[in-house]
Amino acid sequence: MTDVLLKEFGITRREAMKRLGALGLIGVASPQVASATASPKATNAKIVIVGGGAGGICVAARLCRAIDNPNITIIEPSSRHVYQAGQTLVGGGIKKASQLVADEADLIPSKAKWIQTSVKFIDPDAQKLDLENGEQVSYDYLILAPGMQNDWDKIEGLTKDDIGRDGIHSIYTLEGSTKTWDMLQEFAKTGGNAYFTHPSTPIKCGGAPKKIMYLTDAYMRRKNSRDKAVLTFCPASKSMFTVPEFDKAIYEQFHARDMKYNMGHDLVKVDKAKKEATFAYEVQKQGDWDELLGEHEIIKTTEYVTQPYDFLHVTPPMSAPDFLKDSKVIYDKGSSGELRMINADQYTLQNPNYPNVFALGDALGTPFCKTGGSVRKQAPVLVQNLLDVIDGKAPSAKFNGYTVCPIITGYGTVMLAEFDYSGKPTPIIPLDPTQERWIWWMLKVYMLEPIYFYGMMKGIM
Ligand SMILES: Cc1cc2nc3c(=O)[nH]c(=O)nc-3n(C[C@H](O)[C@H](O)[C@H](O)COP(=O)(O)OP(=O)(O)OC[C@H]3O[C@@H](n4cnc5c(N)ncnc54)[C@H](O)[C@@H]3O)c2cc1C
Repeated sequence: MTDVLLKEFGITRREAMKRLGALGLIGVASPQVASATASPKATNAKIVIVGGGAGGICVAARLCRAIDNPNITIIEPSSRHVYQAGQTLVGGGIKKASQLVADEADLIPSKAKWIQTSVKFIDPDAQKLDLENGEQVSYDYLILAPGMQNDWDKIEGLTKDDIGRDGIHSIYTLEGSTKTWDMLQEFAKTGGNAYFTHPSTPIKCGGAPKKIMYLTDAYMRRKNSRDKAVLTFCPASKSMFTVPEFDKAIYEQFHARDMKYNMGHDLVKVDKAKKEATFAYEVQKQGDWDELLGEHEIIKTTEYVTQPYDFLHVTPPMSAPDFLKDSKVIYDKGSSGELRMINADQYTLQNPNYPNVFALGDALGTPFCKTGGSVRKQAPVLVQNLLDVIDGKAPSAKFNGYTVCPIITGYGTVMLAEFDYSGKPTPIIPLDPTQERWIWWMLKVYMLEPIYFYGMMKGIM
């Protein structure tokens, strides 16, 4: 489909690539810290990495370059590695699921050892891990990159098996993204009520639930059936985006496309037989007069609204994987405590209680940063800091919270939302970041997947 689109623009794929290069997009590849060491370091330290997804492989590849004869073990149960950031493109019919999948064995660096099983329990005091296969593994240094799990059953009436049936779909699994594309094409013929949900928990790529809604809108316009459908975004939060500049831009884009929204609406129940979705929302009512404060009390209550749907795109609640939840490496307080996310300093990525434990990726209890783009910037920082600690020094590198979300707003346009812990836009190229642009579409569709597999996963970008 994208090649067809390129023809519509009157240029070839090769020409498009050249233009991207000319734009200096290679800046995407520049690491935040210099290469960890000029010549490989000698150390016998035993480094164990939990998770062989984006973060685990990226860090392993960098460590294998930085250390001479490294002693690195990766624990990862799956033989299939998925480039998850492409799942939105599969849901919109732009890529095939098979294009996003690699054999894990091909990505594990040749100098690292792979144990193909899951971690069951972490004991950071004994520096040991219990594995699902019955083995116990000890470590000198531990790197946690287990990603987040989808908690489908936190929505009453819903299980993972319901995805792709009876109008319920989700790009949050690889198989689900293929089914989303099938259902989207059917929905474009019939029309009806479509809802796109976003839960109250942190999620992988906060923009993705909106991206699939934009693509539904765009696809129906191409098929001249947009007037047959009402598309409504239902996020648990009351804002479209954490960064005000992008928040404002998204509201304007929604209004221009007649895309509706019910802010503060959290999907809590699905009745598959009746095809009804129930949302919880908060209502503030005036209570009794408070003599002391000289004003009325405000009473907050939760109310529920049930809507019939023809097309329900579910973004599941997410959390750190269950095996971490009784471990001492998670936060013990605050909102991250409730979600049991991994405790690590947001700048150095080091656990404050266990200096030999580091973490990166989605399972971190830090603000934002649930993107592959964040992992790419975290990896060199983590490697530098780990090598510092191995040398008996304090961590010297700092991660600035870089987060990138290419918001696909149509077939051919993307708004590239980049920001960091400051909560301000941080565009790599000095162009108005709130504009929808074709060059960012080219980046998203053609450049990021090779950057992922041939750059990030090899530890060179
Ligand atoms: C639909 C969707 C759209 C996205 N869009 C974008 C985008 O446009 N741009 C972007 O930058 N990012 C995007 N992302 C986010 C990006 O994919 C993640 O941020 C990135 O994969 C996080 O890397 P990670 O290593 O933390 O987790 P993952 O890549 O998920 O890897 C975690 C690994 O840990 C393993 N694991 C889990 N439990 C255990 C255990 N008990 N023992 C051992 N191993 C375990 C898993 O099998 C998995 O391989 C998107 C994600 C999704 C789902």
